[in-house]
Amino acid sequence: MRISAAWLLVLLPGVAAAQELPRALPVPGGIAAVKLAPASEPPPRAYFNGARVMVVSQDDHWHAVVGLPLSLAPGAQKLTAMGREGVGREYAFTVQPKEYAAQYLTLTNKRLVDPGAKDLERIQRDQVAVARAFGSWTEAAEPPLRFALPAQGRLSSEFGLRRFFNNQPRQPHSGIDIAAPEGAPVTAPAPGIVVETGDYFFNGNTVFLDHGQGLITMYNHLKRIEVKPGARVTIGQKIGEVGMTGRVTGAHLHWTVSLNKTAIDPLLLTPGAAPSAVSSGAGPQPAQTLQAGD
Ligand SMILES: [Zn+2]
Repeated sequence: MRISAAWLLVLLPGVAAAQELPRALPVPGGIAAVKLAPASEPPPRAYFNGARVMVVSQDDHWHAVVGLPLSLAPGAQKLTAMGREGVGREYAFTVQPKEYAAQYLTLTNKRLVDPGAKDLERIQRDQVAVARAFGSWTEAAEPPLRFALPAQGRLSSEFGLRRFFNNQPRQPHSGIDIAAPEGAPVTAPAPGIVVETGDYFFNGNTVFLDHGQGLITMYNHLKRIEVKPGARVTIGQKIGEVGMTGRVTGAHLHWTVSLNKTAIDPLLLTPGAAPSAVSSGAGPQPAQTLQAGD
């Protein structure tokens, strides 16, 4: 299949490149792949919930690769694609329900659970910077849709968990946590550009990578940051070290993957490379020893 597709490209250089889509799982926190116009037409511009959406070609059609928010209600949804001459067309798709488990974490530093007024000012500034990084858009004909894991270690917290810090409900888990010793390397899971770095109240030392077409990844709680904004990184390149800066209960990497400004389950982009699950081994662990956090 691959060979014939490659030959087609050689024979018909005007045809858009074919690409393997990520594992589509149209649930809240998942990905919908929506078939658009034939690939013989120019790539349409697609929008979902007001945000521009990735469009790639596969099997002679354009497909929108849509990140679905955890807060999205299951049922009928639609996206808009602007085709030739700027004519908009709506495409319907269905979001299936998914239940996410609850997770209870205990933090002894009460300030990280109930931040003071000064902390809240900083948190608001952080939120603006983080939203700006996730909102960046770089054109890329073939953004990487297959990722390597950015750190080696146990999956200490899954994506989407409904979180309680000291029994108080907080935002659901927007990424996955990989437990690893302080100083362990954090590497780029795919080629990209460093779009931002910073030190944030909850997220600690952080790197953002832009992989193109609204696909942005974020790395939190780093001990050290080893790249600068604007730098190009290749797959496997070291971008920092695992640490425990920000709101954590132990050393780990928190990894967020965002599509159209929407956090999705990173493991949808890492087929065959999932870290061992938290449930394997000796069973549930006491909250205090979980190497987790935001
Ligand atoms: Zn986390």
